[in-house]
Amino acid sequence: MLDSPVIIVGSGLAGYGVARELRKLAPDRELVIISRDDARSYSKPSLSNALALGKTANQLGGASAETMSTQLRARVLANAEVRDIDIAHRKIALDGETLAYSKLVLALGADPISVPLAGNAADEVQRVNDLASYASFRAAIEGDKQLDLQVLSEPTYYEKTSEGTALLMTFLGGAIVFFLSLGAMIGGMITMYGAVDSRKREIGTLRALGFTRLQVLGSFLFESALLALCGGVIGAFAALGMGFVKIGMMNQATWSEMVFSFDPTPDIVIGSVIAGAVMGILGGFLPAARAARVSPIAAMRE
Ligand SMILES: Cc1cc2nc3c(=O)[nH]c(=O)nc-3n(C[C@H](O)[C@H](O)[C@H](O)COP(=O)(O)OP(=O)(O)OC[C@H]3O[C@@H](n4cnc5c(N)ncnc54)[C@H](O)[C@@H]3O)c2cc1C
Repeated sequence: MLDSPVIIVGSGLAGYGVARELRKLAPDRELVIISRDDARSYSKPSLSNALALGKTANQLGGASAETMSTQLRARVLANAEVRDIDIAHRKIALDGETLAYSKLVLALGADPISVPLAGNAADEVQRVNDLASYASFRAAIEGDKQLDLQVLSEPTYYEKTSEGTALLMTFLGGAIVFFLSLGAMIGGMITMYGAVDSRKREIGTLRALGFTRLQVLGSFLFESALLALCGGVIGAFAALGMGFVKIGMMNQATWSEMVFSFDPTPDIVIGSVIAGAVMGILGGFLPAARAARVSPIAAMRE
């Protein structure tokens, strides 16, 4: 009997866990693992959110019975149900086969409790306790046209139910950005007109020294862009404080409250600073053009 293998019944976390530990202690001991399912190694807790994450049973299943057999140097008997255990003679009976064992590990897990249910769909209640039952649960949901159900991941579900609100927010946000940008451009333009007027002598001197109209235009555009860039950086830092503000809004599709907050990603921060510089160039163009037109003689007379 001592020559008989160690038999583990069950290929769940417990069964394969015991097998791994046994291999560390007894690398050469003959080992047989028996499972009534397909003996794939997988993490059973992942069944909890597999549907929400849109995962199929195949995507959850890890190493196959063959891979586990090679890894554990064990004979893995998949789809083999233990029907009887003869403790006196240390034998277990499978369908059509009897195996002797020296040590037996029962890692059978637990069967879900079936709560008695009334109603005309009571026999359609599904219990998900392994990969096979999860596969049939998923197939039932996808296959029942009456239910008109779709399997969606959680983020996709929330994205879809908030499409209308997101559109409204994008429109409102776009309108606010447009008018604020226009205001900023006009503000920048007024500042630059003031700068050109107060520095006419300076411009005239530059022109007299040989600076071309294009160079004067370029220098004022550069100054305007630089000022707007600095303003953009200060504004972006100030806007980071909005990260602490949470705004609640009713989701028209689900009639539930949606809470959203400003999430300043690097792309948004960098984009807004660049947009600020572009506003500076656009707003500074007309004042820069006026500066370029300043006649050196007239400027000296002022
Ligand atoms: C949806 C869900 C979510 C869970 N979430 C968590 C969690 O978040 N955290 C946590 O700690 N635990 C969680 N659990 C519990 C945890 O997953 C289980 O306790 C653990 O996986 C049980 O492992 P096991 O190997 O004992 O049993 P099982 O994984 O059930 O394996 C039993 C094995 O025995 C075999 N078997 C049974 N009878 C026979 C037979 N007669 N002949 C041959 N083979 C047989 C089966 O084929 C199977 O291979 C969750 C369980 C479920 C179902």
